[in-house]
Amino acid sequence: MLKIGLTGGIGSGKTTVAQIFEVLAIPVYYADKAAKDLMNQDPELKKQIISAFGKNVYKEGVLDRSYLGGMVFADAEKLSLLNSFVHPVTFRHASSWMQNQKTSYAVKEAALIFEAGLENFFDYIIGVTAPESLRLERVMNRDLSSKESVLQRMAQQMDEKEKISRCDFVIINDEKQALLPQVLEIHKTLLSKKNKKNM
Ligand code: ATP
Repeated sequence: MLKIGLTGGIGSGKTTVAQIFEVLAIPVYYADKAAKDLMNQDPELKKQIISAFGKNVYKEGVLDRSYLGGMVFADAEKLSLLNSFVHPVTFRHASSWMQNQKTSYAVKEAALIFEAGLENFFDYIIGVTAPESLRLERVMNRDLSSKESVLQRMAQQMDEKEKISRCDFVIINDEKQALLPQVLEIHKTLLSKKNKKNM
């Protein structure tokens, strides 16, 4: 089975594209969602987070994401400390999930693949790209976030052009080019690559 990474900057449309793969019966692992669940469920990870950020990050056992976000998104060192706890746990969880899939290929959707040095885990990486102004507008509308807080999160990620230049496949999600034919083309290519590998 081929391991496929699906990445792109904040608001590029990774989740929207991932949902199209799911319609094609391709299983998708959503790394951000999994990381959020693990931060609430994995006892060792919870201990690490509390020891670094204080017991107030959990309210009645549930992570207070806006409290923690307020601390880490304004401080690159704290964000990198949090990532150093969360990434290995999520990586192990995703790897074991991948191993259990029975389809020709499976997709892991993650904002940070290159930033986390995970590119070698995948057979191929798909990048989703959209103009920065559109990404900003989408996230502000979706999360009701301020322009400043979205720009702050964008600044923590690798430059979009650099990221996309490292991908094997690129999907342009600029609301001018249709997504479906682009995803179908990649789907067909990946199925044929898998078939060739089996020959
Ligand atoms: P994040 O990194 O924040 O998780 P993302 O890359 O997964 O973002 P999505 O959540 O897929 O991006 O998209 C951001 C918002 O833009 C969503 O509300 C989504 O519905 C909307 N959106 C994405 N692509 C399109 C499109 N082609 N047309 C209209 N709306 C879109």
